[in-house]
Amino acid sequence: MCGIVASLGSRPASPFIIQGLKALEYRGYDSAGLAVMGAKGVKCIKAVGQVSRLERKVKFKRPAGKLGIGHTRWATHGRVLVKNAHPHCDDKGQFFVVHNGIIENFAILKEFLIKKGHKFSSDTDSEVVAQLLAYNFKQVGDVRQAIFLTLRSLKGAYALAIISEKEPGKLWGAKLSGPLVLGIGEQQFYLASDPMALANFSRRMIVLEDNEVVEITTEGYTISNLESEKTVKRPAALVDLADKEAGLGGYSDYMSKEIAESPRVVEDVTRGRLNSETGIVKLGGLDTVASQLEHIDRILIIACGTSYFAGMVGEYLFEEISQIPVEVQLASEFRYRNEPLSRSTAVIVISQSGETADTIAALQKISDSGILKLGVVNVVGSTLSRLTDAGVYCQAGLEKSVASTKSFIAQVTVLVMMALYLNNHSPLYNELLRGLTDLPEQMRGFLKSNSVAKIAKKYAKYNNFLFLGRRYAYPVALEGALKLKEISYIHAEGLAGGEIKHGSLALVDKNCPCFATALSNGIDDKTVNSLAEIKARKGKIVAVVDDPKSEAAKLTDDLIVVPKVPEALQPLVAGLACHLFAYHVAKTLKRPIDKPRNLAKSVTVE
Ligand code: GLU
Repeated sequence: MCGIVASLGSRPASPFIIQGLKALEYRGYDSAGLAVMGAKGVKCIKAVGQVSRLERKVKFKRPAGKLGIGHTRWATHGRVLVKNAHPHCDDKGQFFVVHNGIIENFAILKEFLIKKGHKFSSDTDSEVVAQLLAYNFKQVGDVRQAIFLTLRSLKGAYALAIISEKEPGKLWGAKLSGPLVLGIGEQQFYLASDPMALANFSRRMIVLEDNEVVEITTEGYTISNLESEKTVKRPAALVDLADKEAGLGGYSDYMSKEIAESPRVVEDVTRGRLNSETGIVKLGGLDTVASQLEHIDRILIIACGTSYFAGMVGEYLFEEISQIPVEVQLASEFRYRNEPLSRSTAVIVISQSGETADTIAALQKISDSGILKLGVVNVVGSTLSRLTDAGVYCQAGLEKSVASTKSFIAQVTVLVMMALYLNNHSPLYNELLRGLTDLPEQMRGFLKSNSVAKIAKKYAKYNNFLFLGRRYAYPVALEGALKLKEISYIHAEGLAGGEIKHGSLALVDKNCPCFATALSNGIDDKTVNSLAEIKARKGKIVAVVDDPKSEAAKLTDDLIVVPKVPEALQPLVAGLACHLFAYHVAKTLKRPIDKPRNLAKSVTVE
């Protein structure tokens, strides 16, 4: 969720920390801070708002030192105030920590520490870590032991970087659930919650596992298991982070850049995996489990947010193309449900980052069940990709905008290919193969037509929206509503077209427009009925259509015309239209497109 960086070596710490935090700012951006170990002790600087504000303060105060830790926060406990920004330290200023995640038992620990005389200065859960470190240090008189003792008392999720004036030449890192990597440079070591922060600093990396602690000096590092304290040996991997996509490339924000990348994403996802001439869908990531896949009789898709809606599209796809019954569940519900699962079920988890805490927990719940676990994940080497038995990477490239767009496109494309892979006898097989091949050019044509901006401008004045769609367009309606809420802060509700008459029609009047996906799907007359019901109540209608002469089109106030594609691919073109609509509404309202309030990319907390 938030970003953590730290460095120790021969170079000054603060320039790296600022640069690293900027690279991670998309993960959390309500406040930021750093602590640098100098000759006269630790200098801690914090600022509310973007990293650039911290940067200004750092330029002014110039913390000198070659050991430091930094943080961009996405508040879970305590308001967005300087006192709650990280790093946090104990009341004697001995231990400084940056923390990503939630310490679930912080209240009990805090009560205990207050009884022992500790004075707290923030409202966060994280401060207990620093205070407990100091308390334990007082008991045992040894930093390493104090760290191990402290970590063993923590419940919840954490990625931590720790420094202490008691051992001013050491940097410590630890993780449970939240991601943390160790970067190994020339006489220089780094910690970061996302390898992207290390892009210009180190190519050799070790991904830390849960319950591992790393102890770093200028000479080297040791990774230990938290429980056994035994040293863990793991070779460093070479990671090429020279990411061509990292910059804005002339776009005003990442969201518009990433929407524009949608056609290229479809090409990248299908490249080498799909051949419309030979009629082959080749998913190397599933070949290893091909024989197990032959025996499954049910698919359970687990995801959150936009990935959940992509999963709902998957439900229609697998049922129609692969003829396998499917259920889609929210990870946050699944993890606490008592649902019997049979061994012939295959679970598919979907996540852009591969670090979504709820989805990881859902997968961990069934880790020993013998059930086949598949991943549809974008970030290579992420936790979910490591926890699954097999899977298909999304190949969407780096997604920086908090509002996910190209990932939805990539996930749905992957799911279409998976459905085809599972049944190459489907009557839809050839049509969809051809359809996927033609799709990128069709999407490019639609993007060029630039028709959505003008319509979106007109609708930005409304405070409420209904999004409607039937069959494959139903999850698109949910995705469209979510996207509008996320970045424009306009209330929107997604509905299955047939459901509107069961209650939500009460909302419709001239102030509550409907955004309908009304593409040809064999039940067009049903869509026309829903639109007529809205029209009869003076509701304005914007509709995504593929036939501007259709009956549905005649009932609408404003038309967004997308290319005609096979129904199973409609979520890709309609999804693109919804993304553009939300984007242009938010742009008209001058919202901070890439950093919508209260949100953050990669939800690594529960
Ligand atoms: N729970 C901590 C806080 O609210 C850390 C949140 C984060 O991951 O940024 O300060």
